[in-house]
Amino acid sequence: MGAAFVLAVHGGAGTILRSQMTAEAEAAYRAGIRNALQAGYAVLSRGGSALDATVAAVTVLEDDPLFNAGRGSVYTTDRTQEMDAAVMDGETMNAGAVAGIFGPKNPVLAARAVMEKSEHVFLCGAGATEFCRQQKLAFESADYFFTQRRMDALEAELNARVSGGDSGDPARKHGTVGAVACDARGHLAAATSTGGMTAKMPGRVGDSPVIGAGTYADDCGGAVSTTGHGEYFIRYAVAHEISARLRLTQQPLAEICDEMVMKVLKEVDGSGGLIAVDAKRNVALSFNSEGMYRGVVRENGQSWAAIYQEALREVG
Ligand code: ASP
Repeated sequence: MGAAFVLAVHGGAGTILRSQMTAEAEAAYRAGIRNALQAGYAVLSRGGSALDATVAAVTVLEDDPLFNAGRGSVYTTDRTQEMDAAVMDGETMNAGAVAGIFGPKNPVLAARAVMEKSEHVFLCGAGATEFCRQQKLAFESADYFFTQRRMDALEAELNARVSGGDSGDPARKHGTVGAVACDARGHLAAATSTGGMTAKMPGRVGDSPVIGAGTYADDCGGAVSTTGHGEYFIRYAVAHEISARLRLTQQPLAEICDEMVMKVLKEVDGSGGLIAVDAKRNVALSFNSEGMYRGVVRENGQSWAAIYQEALREVG
């Protein structure tokens, strides 16, 4: 067995109830998490970087229509899809992000291109999409990104608004994918990608691509990727706050993450969760919703996943 490393992924937090899940759906979600872990593991086990591993894992989740990122992204009130993504490299403190894009097959690759091929950190809208074309990133049509399930969710939400109600718990409307890793050299990285929240206003940007809110990595602190009601994660600069506390205090990672999620966010009704790692290869998977699709793999190659409020189970 080589040097120690760790990768964690999430596929979104929300009202994920065992009673509403079929055995097939549950198996498909666990397989999706396992596939992402294995993609990241393939990178890390051959001595690859945390950055490459997190991007590889998120790319797999973006390609899986079950998750709200890339293919399978949720819809705005205009029935359009607007995707956001970010990456951050904790070794160099370089970061890249895109917001409100439609067309690039893998928004996380767009974020990485912004980091590596432009002098900027954050591009949005038409300019970001044009940049992706210049970088010759793969594009897909609306058919590729369409899923009936997400369109139905939009209709349900719009109908609920017309009848003056709400379609339910706000946690139902979201989802996002993300990965954090500490590689064999002790470097950290984080990547996050999302379609945002169902029935969001066109132009709305959530926390996922906001460096320090939904995505952050600093070798001297931690790597964090969040999921949940983005407005709260932006206001509390959640990802940076966790990394800063790791850098400036002796508090353990799990305690810091639980405090942010279970106290700070919960007290203001900010539903969601996050995954985080530090340079000692500690991992935290915290959420204040019913469930969060999540998983962890370490250097022994065993993939562990969980969905509900349950312990991680080996999935391959
Ligand atoms: N955080 C994402 C956003 O607000 C959505 C989610 O993670 O569920 O856009």
